[in-house]
Amino acid sequence: MSETRIPDLTEILNNHIERDERIAHGDGAVFIAYNDQARVLREIAFKRALIADILAEEHDLDDSEYLGCLAVTQVTPGSPEVVRIVGRACTCGRDESVARRLRLLAAVYEEETDHA
Ligand SMILES: [Zn+2]
Repeated sequence: MSETRIPDLTEILNNHIERDERIAHGDGAVFIAYNDQARVLREIAFKRALIADILAEEHDLDDSEYLGCLAVTQVTPGSPEVVRIVGRACTCGRDESVARRLRLLAAVYEEETDHA
């Protein structure tokens, strides 16, 4: 599936999600049978892989005349060397993008978090 085009992947995923929705709104016994232990464990593994993939997105490290993201780069005056540093606010949009996607994932647990 790794070479499947994005529109095709989107259609495949949407078809699976629509099927899940139909099952969730249908007979309880079918829903329970469909959501067996193996499927739940696959979804857990998927969520962990997706979180790791999201967090693996790197900051812009363009080391040409522009600095790249200030969260990870610093140029020493008079030196062409770009030094990686950590701790300043992200200026490339990576952190905002990561946070937006993690919030989407966390929304599944919103009700539980509200009651925790
Ligand atoms: Zn950044």
